[in-house]
Amino acid sequence: MTDLLENGDVEASHCAASLPGAAASEARWSVWRAFWAAGLGPATTARHLAHAGLLKAFAVHAASVILLVFGATVVAAAVSEDSTWVEIWDDIFRDMFGLGVFAATIEAGTLVLALLLVPWGAREEKLQTSLRWSMRTVWQQSMHVAVASLALHVLVSFWERFLWKPWYAAYTPALNSGVLNWSARPWYVRHADECAGYVGVLLYAWVLWGLLRAVGSRPLAAPADATPACQLCGYNLTGAATEGACPECGESVAASIMPDSRPGVLWERRGALSRRQAWWQTAWQAIRTPRQFGRQMQVYSPPAAYRQFLLPSMVGGALIGMVGVLACYAGLLQSGRVGSMSYEVLDDLLWLVLPVAATACGISILTTSLFFAGTVGAIMSLANRRNLLPLAMRCAAYTSGFLLLWMAANVLPAFIYGLAPGTRLFQTLAAMLQADEDDVVLLLWGVFNLFWLAAYVRKLHAMIQGARFATR
Ligand SMILES: [Zn+2]
Repeated sequence: MTDLLENGDVEASHCAASLPGAAASEARWSVWRAFWAAGLGPATTARHLAHAGLLKAFAVHAASVILLVFGATVVAAAVSEDSTWVEIWDDIFRDMFGLGVFAATIEAGTLVLALLLVPWGAREEKLQTSLRWSMRTVWQQSMHVAVASLALHVLVSFWERFLWKPWYAAYTPALNSGVLNWSARPWYVRHADECAGYVGVLLYAWVLWGLLRAVGSRPLAAPADATPACQLCGYNLTGAATEGACPECGESVAASIMPDSRPGVLWERRGALSRRQAWWQTAWQAIRTPRQFGRQMQVYSPPAAYRQFLLPSMVGGALIGMVGVLACYAGLLQSGRVGSMSYEVLDDLLWLVLPVAATACGISILTTSLFFAGTVGAIMSLANRRNLLPLAMRCAAYTSGFLLLWMAANVLPAFIYGLAPGTRLFQTLAAMLQADEDDVVLLLWGVFNLFWLAAYVRKLHAMIQGARFATR
């Protein structure tokens, strides 16, 4: 049987369910190898398992979820003093509704994740093939997610059982009588939330890295038989004279088919420029003239370049997020709604609020790019009868500089949000609208961001328009 499966000729006859993705030379692994390999070498694993269909990938996913639940109950029984493992399972199966909700939540979350990642792994193919690739690759990565989740669960459970409980039991009388100062708690009690948060962020950053590596692992090559097309309107230029003009739109043929007609964006041919300079200039060109930027862009160059462009944007997003939080706090202090920077407030701000804001804002650069590459890209794909998702992903990555501008524009509103509900202007507005002052500020903030959203989508759309007829 193994021979049959590893023999390409035999398998090829019934692999309608498999997806293009692996080079022909890539050895086919058994799908169960995803269990341990997906977390260690996600891209390699995805390439070796590119032959596996949706059903097999779902089997890996389902088995991973079951093992995760099994592992979680083992841990729960180990730290519990009054329930055994059997009792916990008994409770789980008695609550079939709860079990159903749990399963539905996991499946819905996985589906959302797969949808979000579609443009990251898409190639020029039917849209549903891109969707299937993302779905099955996310399913194959399930064990990686399960291991990370279980590790966090173990950490929190053992902390509670072996650090928190003994400490609490020993100090309760002193705490109750007020002899013990609450701020004199040991560090593992005082900073429990932060520690769990940091470990969680690291674990899920590892998971995210794996997902991106796996979904984005498909080889990319320009089609060998691409027909020469007018780069402005897409008209088929086969046989057109180089000196001539496009019969459809009048663009010179040379501008479309000469080797330098699509030179690539600055970031990908930065030459002597430093990475920092190249990033700034590329980001600025993308913001100022998105359509020309798209017209220059090569869509079959190695994807590593645009992925590396996203990373500085994410770091920038994290920094701006922290500045925004500080501005909001400054506003709150100014308004008098937070009395003073007490020790507790400062402690929380430094170790919890700032890192959370940084992480959330950094990740939001990536997820926003993915989301709009997927939605704008899918709509434009239907209109253009070409799968523009891979191209839209490139455009979204290079438009990430605009997301930073958008985020920076929110720093001042964050300050005002902290400050404003106490000011006369907003009190008057709230009285006029017969609404809560906080709601008025939120509403205005929402309207402000709607304009930015519209500008962002317009720029992304213009860049995809400029790139959509690319043949190299
Ligand atoms: Zn034309």
